[in-house]
Amino acid sequence: MVLMNWELIGHEWAVNLLGRHIANDNVRQAYLITGPDGVGKRTLAMRFAQALNCSDSAKPGEICGQCRSCQFIQRKQFPDLHIVEAEDVGGILKIDQIRELQHQLALSPYEGKRRVALLLRFHEANANAANALLKTLEEPASKVVMLLTAQSKETLLPTISSRCEILPLRDVSRDQIEEALIERGEGHEQAALLARLAAGRPGWAFHYASNPDLLNERTENLEDLLNILQTGRLERFKFVERLTRDWERERKRGGEHPRLRAIGALEHWVSLWRDAMMLAYDAMAEQRNVDRAQDIQMLVSALPARQISENLGRIERLKRDLQKNANVRLAIENLMLDLPRIPGG
Ligand SMILES: [Zn+2]
Repeated sequence: MVLMNWELIGHEWAVNLLGRHIANDNVRQAYLITGPDGVGKRTLAMRFAQALNCSDSAKPGEICGQCRSCQFIQRKQFPDLHIVEAEDVGGILKIDQIRELQHQLALSPYEGKRRVALLLRFHEANANAANALLKTLEEPASKVVMLLTAQSKETLLPTISSRCEILPLRDVSRDQIEEALIERGEGHEQAALLARLAAGRPGWAFHYASNPDLLNERTENLEDLLNILQTGRLERFKFVERLTRDWERERKRGGEHPRLRAIGALEHWVSLWRDAMMLAYDAMAEQRNVDRAQDIQMLVSALPARQISENLGRIERLKRDLQKNANVRLAIENLMLDLPRIPGG
């Protein structure tokens, strides 16, 4: 096995496969990298773009990290790297963006060895945009490599995914993530917690490690959930009103879109219900929210296992709906009607 120096956390098989394609001069025209958000799809694609264009690597397929190509790709300022994505996470990738890309790909590389088109979160492309890309995939230009990322191949048209070499990225081990966090200067206790919460996604762990506010937000989200479980319908609707008003106000001050805030909150709720479900069915299963062991135990004592599993399913569905542009306030209000009431504790 050839070991490439891409310094990626996990996904060794994918790095070796892509590195070998370069070393053997067998680079495909299009690749589709799939996996959950934060698992490393974009990072893998960026390293591949570097390896394709590096002018000073020790071996073909490796990355020097120092040459002009490596540095400019890292900063996303390389003239032969074209990044196309929806305006926001959960937004829509549109046909105009594909047409603009096609104009650029028609030109020969400006300074690199290959033009690289990086189409991020392609599951967010609408049907027009996806069909427009099909044309590019069917009539490959020389010296162009298309790199698509998506949550899964099922979220794309089969006509698109069948024209790509697919690299399904799987969860990275907790140990690998924890080790990487410690290497980057995180304290041991914090690294252990983040590595568990990350659930296999190093990008998630680093994002949380570098934005301490996010862990505070998680605490707030979990407290909110535990509080509303003890309240009735009226209080729950007041809660949703207050929450969406706060999110809206923060957006006006330059904060995140309420949709992203809602998805973030639901992710924390999913994680807690997931732990409760695991505990209810298998006491030996690994827990993620180890700092909330008491709350998880409370849920398991208060609710039958089947109900816990149903709630987990509901919140996961709601999170997917929100990623597809469902109305934020309506969606959370609906969830409030479904969540069980736990007698005060
Ligand atoms: Zn280089």
